[in-house]
Amino acid sequence: MAINIILLGPPGAGKGTQARRLIEERGLVQLSTGDMLREARSSGTEMGKRVAEVMDRGELVTDEIVIGLIREKLGQGGNGFIFDGFPRTLAQADALQALMAEMGQRVDAVIEMRVDDAALVARISGRFTCGNCGEVYHDATKPTAKPGVCDVCGSTDLRRRADDNAESLKTRLMEYYKKTSPLIGYYYVKGNLTPVDGLAQIDVVGAQIGKVLDKIPRWS
Ligand code: ADP
Ligand code: ADP
Ligand code: ZN
Repeated sequence: MAINIILLGPPGAGKGTQARRLIEERGLVQLSTGDMLREARSSGTEMGKRVAEVMDRGELVTDEIVIGLIREKLGQGGNGFIFDGFPRTLAQADALQALMAEMGQRVDAVIEMRVDDAALVARISGRFTCGNCGEVYHDATKPTAKPGVCDVCGSTDLRRRADDNAESLKTRLMEYYKKTSPLIGYYYVKGNLTPVDGLAQIDVVGAQIGKVLDKIPRWS
């Protein structure tokens, strides 16, 4: 039986960072709608062009587009999925529920990554990623060992996101509070929400998430 988990939290909470650890440690498949949308943008598809401005402003892309992207990827599961940045609205959560049921699967755990708003500004403004392998870095908390070179793959293609600026972050946080934070109540009532302290060091957050996953019963 596969296990499926959701990483829920505001922009900069550390979802992508933890998802990458889980791929390595647990063999789960990361489904990041943010990554999928950025890929669509850079490959210049019609959909990519349509969503580019919305993303740069920091607003949410329509449910229809995002649910379509997730539906396409769900057929490819191995040990299970880590949903990173999805769902972000109640409509997306309901759609995920239905898709999982169709596959005879379920969401086993929803990890709520709690981080203060003030810390998010510092997280977002120092973030950069490797364009080749996707490793996530931070100027202060997770710099590369050698300046300008990715520790994991050696690439020098290190990038900052167009939407990682103070103005867009304000919009993204507002979108989070208005549209995504109700999911905390939604999954609490469903009974599978576990909060973790996202302000702790990366390894400590990883250990907290590991404990939650170890409690999920598996049958294979
Ligand atoms: P962050 O890492 O800051 O949380 P993401 O990379 O997950 O940001 O998302 C970047 C942008 O992509 C969002 O601001 C939004 O415009 C769009 N996006 C990503 N996932 C979704 C989603 N599930 N629903 C709607 N829009 C999304
Ligand atoms: P999200 O996917 O939720 O938007 P990221 O994983 O991209 O968040 O992390 C945002 C930034 O904060 C990155 O620069 C990352 O290196 C850094 N970061 C992530 N987790 C921690 C942590 N526990 N402590 C300090 N910095 C962190
Ligand atoms: Zn790399």
